[in-house]
Parts: sequence; structure tokens; C-alpha cells
Amino acid sequence: MLGEQIIKGMAVTAKNFFESYVSKDRLTTVQYPEERLPQKHHTRQFPFLVYDGDDAQKGLRCVACQICEKECPPKCIYIVKSKDKKPDYKGQMQVYPVAFDIDISVCMSCQICVEVCPFESIKMDTQFELSNDNRFEALLLNKEQLSKPNSYYQKIHPEDAAESDAVIAAEKAKAEAKAKAAAEAKAKAEAEAKAKAAAVAATVPTTSTPAAPAPTTTSFTAK
Ligand code: SF4
Ligand code: SF4
Repeated sequence: MLGEQIIKGMAVTAKNFFESYVSKDRLTTVQYPEERLPQKHHTRQFPFLVYDGDDAQKGLRCVACQICEKECPPKCIYIVKSKDKKPDYKGQMQVYPVAFDIDISVCMSCQICVEVCPFESIKMDTQFELSNDNRFEALLLNKEQLSKPNSYYQKIHPEDAAESDAVIAAEKAKAEAKAKAAAEAKAKAEAEAKAKAAAVAATVPTTSTPAAPAPTTTSFTAK
């Protein structure tokens, strides 16, 4: 009967309605900011720059390749390359960003910058409480504000950070193996050149020193 089904439906609705006030798991709101829900694993807000070690500027992974700047759809990344170079995490000399700004009032949290970065340098932050009454300078984050340690990344996105660490470890190992192979090849080439030179020296015939001519004697006749 139609009326019976309507009553059953209303009963389910009423049950859910009242339960949502008493069942902790069913509550859909919390008393923010005193109370906060844990962030989901893949929560993403705005990008930040990752650095290794204790020194933000020495350990910054970014090599100012500007791929993210070119690929960012709303063009909210601004990078200035350095004139000099510093060793990157693989020990290779690279330029670095003298300036790296992101205008987060324009950023649309698309994560494209993260996807295109070949150096595991830029990742998505979970920080969202960035409201400010200055809509210009306060929302234009500079390199110092964007730089955060890898330990922070490991804390907010443990699984992604572990993958990232594994990629970097593999690249480091590859670079070290390449450097070792190059050093061994160089040492081998030097040893071969040395052996060749020694062999050539051994085949040259030894020449005896010519005898000194006998002194010419002049005879004088007494007058
Ligand atoms: S998340 Fe998207 S919009 Fe924001 S800086 Fe990266 S590429 Fe640009
Ligand atoms: S964050 Fe990555 S893609 Fe962007 S400039 Fe730095 S190294 Fe290149």
C-alpha cells in the first residue's frame, strides 16, 4: 500500500535525523576552530618547496628549471634563476632559484606544478588557514615562506613522501654509480697510457757514446 511505504520511508528519515544528534560517528559538523577533523590523506591546498637537511636555502631541491612556471595554468608562479651554481641532491652543479614566488590568491590548487616537476621539489601543502585582510602582498608567498623541510612533507603526506624519498635515493645511487664508473674508466685509461709509454721506452735501442777524437799533435822544428 502506498501510504504504508510513505510511513516506512518517513520512519527511516526520522531515525537517521535523531541518530545524527547522538551518534558521534554520524555528526557532520565539528566546533571549528576548537575542534578539527583530521585531514584526508590526499588533501591538497597550495604548493610548497621541499628542502633536505637543516638549511632551507642550501638544501632546496628546486633547480629553477622553470617547468612548473611554464605549465601553471593561471601563471601564478614567478621564478628568477641564479647566475651561479650549487650542488643539487645528486651532487651535480645546478642553478637555483634566487626568487620563487607563488600568488596563492590566483593558484587553483590543480597540482600540475607537482606533476611536472622532475626533481621532487614542489609538493602540495595541507595548510588552509591563510585568510588575510591584505589580498596582495600577504597572499604572494616568497621562497622563504614556501620552503619547508622534507620532515614536514613526511608528516603531512607519509606515503607520497616515502615514494619521493625512494625516487631520490635511486637517483642518488645511480649518480654515484655513474661517477664511480667514470673514475674507474679514467684510472684505467691513465694506467694503459702509462704502460704504453713504458713499452715504447723499452723498445728504443741504446746507442753507445762515440769516443772522443784524439788530440791533434803539431810537431815543431827547431830553427
Ligand atoms: S597548483 Fe596549479 S595553479 Fe597552483 S601553482 Fe601549481 S600549477 Fe599553478
Ligand atoms: S619546482 Fe621543480 S619544476 Fe619548478 S622550477 Fe623547481 S625544479 Fe623546476
